[in-house]
Amino acid sequence: MTGRVSKRDYYEVLGVSRDADPQEIKSAYRKLALKFHPDRNPGVKQAEEHFKEAAEAYSVLGDLEKRATYDRYGHQGLGSSAAGPSGFDPSTFADFTDIFGDFFGFGDLFGGGSRQRTRVQRGDDLRYELEIGFEDAVRGMSAEILIPRDEICSRCQGARAEPGSGVVTCPTCRGRGEVIYQQSFLSVRRTCSQCGGSGKMIRQPCTQCRGQGSVRVERRLKIDIPVGVDNGTRLRLSQEGQPGYNGGPPGDLYVVLRVKEHSVFVRQGSDLHCTVPINIAQAALGAVIQIPTLDGPEALTIPEGTQHSAEFRLRNHGVPHVNSHGRGDLYVHVEVKVPPQLTKEQRKLLEDLADTLPADNRPNEKGLFDKVKDYFG
Ligand SMILES: [Zn+2]
Ligand SMILES: [Zn+2]
Repeated sequence: MTGRVSKRDYYEVLGVSRDADPQEIKSAYRKLALKFHPDRNPGVKQAEEHFKEAAEAYSVLGDLEKRATYDRYGHQGLGSSAAGPSGFDPSTFADFTDIFGDFFGFGDLFGGGSRQRTRVQRGDDLRYELEIGFEDAVRGMSAEILIPRDEICSRCQGARAEPGSGVVTCPTCRGRGEVIYQQSFLSVRRTCSQCGGSGKMIRQPCTQCRGQGSVRVERRLKIDIPVGVDNGTRLRLSQEGQPGYNGGPPGDLYVVLRVKEHSVFVRQGSDLHCTVPINIAQAALGAVIQIPTLDGPEALTIPEGTQHSAEFRLRNHGVPHVNSHGRGDLYVHVEVKVPPQLTKEQRKLLEDLADTLPADNRPNEKGLFDKVKDYFG
């Protein structure tokens, strides 16, 4: 390697164009890595150089951020943080496992979970559905919930071994943490599934967690539900999810709210709707009626000549907005009820009224009659 001043262009190394997409870059690297893999070319120095060169190129072009830097400034732009001229970052071998793990289906064969245990990883998010009352959603509330989740075992601190029992070297990989699989003519390194890549195994599993490293507990959490939340609102409780792996941070807990329906009000965003029946006399003559609101009954004036399904809006009688001041509106939909049966006296009054009213029974949709005529004419 000494004396080699100028480096080959990374795109040239992988044999892809400068506008190649990530998938093309990945598969180009995969091909080269297979071809020049040291296990497949034992003792061939040239192959090893090619293999390292390809891995170095991939460590840059396979990373969107590094690739952008390289596109703008070339090798100089990557500085000392990336691979220097005399070698490459050995951590790219980790990517190698990623690439070939799924390529040969080993991930399925040995369970994808084995790799997780060796990496620092954020815990999983949890989701909890909480049903609350309609008025609780409108006014806000605080609630106590019980969340079943895993917690790091207090006895072994997550180490999975009985305290003081010690560990032994993994017999499968003999402590190396990885195993080499022979696949026809080539061999592939993979994280040891027996020990999860740590190279060590537990002599005696922890008695409290039975070697799981975590125990299932029910945690009691107090949550504040803000004013004005709606069905489907998600509340995020930071770091209340599952614990992280190998010291990683815990995940988050999402509380998804299910709001029960109200017997009177239908909610649409911050607005409320309700239907109030009135009789034909109230509709014709006008009236002052009592209507329900979230703040108790209120008087609403119905003007004379109110038609069926007329709508009245009461401003600021809806649901408070979640993230701002003010409230939505309340819409009152009037339903004109015809009395299903009449007393003799009522019948007489209505008959007298009927004589004075014009009978105007034409369909009120303009042009409908003409259309029908055209059709039959
Ligand atoms: Zn334990
Ligand atoms: Zn092992």
